[in-house]
Amino acid sequence: MPQFTSQFIESTPGDPLSDTRPRQVHGALWSKVQPTPVSAPRLVAFSPEVVRLLGLDEAALQSAEWVQVLSGNALWPGMVPYSANYGGHQFGNWAGQLGDGRAIVLGELLAPDGGRYELQLKGAGRTPYSRRADGRAVLRSSIREFLCSEAMHHLGVPTTRALSLVATGDTVIRDMFYDGHPEAEPGAIVCRVAPSFLRFGNFELCTSRGDVALLQKLADYTVTQFFPELGKPSKDTYAAFFGEVARRTAKLIAHWQAVGFVHGVMNTDNMSILGLTIDYGPYGWIDDFDPGWTPNTTDADQRRYRYGNQPAIGMWNVERLGVALMPLLEGDETLIEAGLLEYDRTFETELAARFAAKLGLSSLGDKADFDLVNGCIAWLAEEETDMTLFFRGLSRVVTAPAAPVEFPAVLREAFYGQVPEPHLAKGLQWLTTWWQRTRREGVAPAELARRMDAVNPKYVLRNYLAQEAIDAAHAGDNSKVHALLDVMRRPFDEQPGREAYAARRPDWARSKPGCSALSCSS
Ligand code: AMP
Ligand code: MG
Repeated sequence: MPQFTSQFIESTPGDPLSDTRPRQVHGALWSKVQPTPVSAPRLVAFSPEVVRLLGLDEAALQSAEWVQVLSGNALWPGMVPYSANYGGHQFGNWAGQLGDGRAIVLGELLAPDGGRYELQLKGAGRTPYSRRADGRAVLRSSIREFLCSEAMHHLGVPTTRALSLVATGDTVIRDMFYDGHPEAEPGAIVCRVAPSFLRFGNFELCTSRGDVALLQKLADYTVTQFFPELGKPSKDTYAAFFGEVARRTAKLIAHWQAVGFVHGVMNTDNMSILGLTIDYGPYGWIDDFDPGWTPNTTDADQRRYRYGNQPAIGMWNVERLGVALMPLLEGDETLIEAGLLEYDRTFETELAARFAAKLGLSSLGDKADFDLVNGCIAWLAEEETDMTLFFRGLSRVVTAPAAPVEFPAVLREAFYGQVPEPHLAKGLQWLTTWWQRTRREGVAPAELARRMDAVNPKYVLRNYLAQEAIDAAHAGDNSKVHALLDVMRRPFDEQPGREAYAARRPDWARSKPGCSALSCSS
């Protein structure tokens, strides 16, 4: 039987109460809370990689005993479940206390790799932070979180993981479009896994309440547990910690940009202190490359969290963290400036490196190289062009014996509609310049193609693919969830026979709910 620890709650102040009455919780970083049992839990899917990571056994995980635990109906000895207390800036405004309204950490597991991982149930019932909501999650959003966590991991993007997806057997009422038509939907619980689920918002809440002692306890725990290389807690260490979080956040968002992931709700309560992608809600993958696109219908007017704005929002969020850390930085605002500069520099460097690699270049050297990347991005945005197919297709062009003399068929497949001649001509011109530039890499074209295929995924969790799996699961067929999970385990491999999963978004999915835009209802 696995051994569980409770380092976080043993080393930080908690709520003396353990009832789930909605309330403001002061002077505490967490509240003990028991998951609320569900009626007929069934394991829908699990991630074999996470099972292995945790040193668990696949057969055991599928046993009735484990499914009871993964659904919140039972606990292993040593598990002391709790929900975390945090606040956050939502859509640019301070929202006060939020907290884990439906997430419950069961315990920490020491894994064979020496890491300690928290197991957290999302949708396990009401907590003191549920406010007026039900503490539950629906199957459709749970499928999306389960699949995308694992897809992101296999793409190499830092993320929380998902061990399991359980259908609860209970229904949950949701007004999916917020239009006065609530419906009963199947409920589900994802068991999420990460070294820590701490967010910027945990720090912000302490400072917003003037509770510097609590802030310091949180910072000391975080630094000691997760950033030991920065040294013992001190003003300098907190400053270094802030710089490191800025750096990790910049790297993370550059990575999102490079694979076409749009988080959709980059509120500061959804920003991981470890630089992980966290809280998969109304996220989406860019099909046609439109920097103004957001998957989140709640954000349709402002488009605050659109693809092209993620880098700026990341920086805004880092600034909020800096403000929250001010009491520990002795009010030295130059440290915020330094952190933001760090963010900016890291983001620019990372993004340049990622897009250089996407184009088969070892680095961007001179202004002409930067112009090449910017020219590509500007051209892609002009007509509806599939980002994933375009970049993946480039490796087939790089191996051509000469610069293309007509627009390559493999790249035409990336267009969503008819494209005017001048646009093709411009694209061809860009391709010629790019093809010639690749020859200066001094690397065999086949090797360039291999390198490009290792960074330009063939398979991403397109919104419509996830929705097809959801529709099938609602009809009682989980095979599409399993198939998608399996395809997304090797996003850079060709996977003969599975080309359908790499196809452009079909026309029927252009404006179908779940395929193009999603509400926050989950
Ligand atoms: P999100 O934007 O989904 O990350 O959620 C924002 C806040 O709302 C967090 O504090 C969540 O815990 C809470 N929340 C969202 N959905 C529910 C729910 N069904 N029951 C309780 N709390 C919820
Ligand atoms: Mg959240």
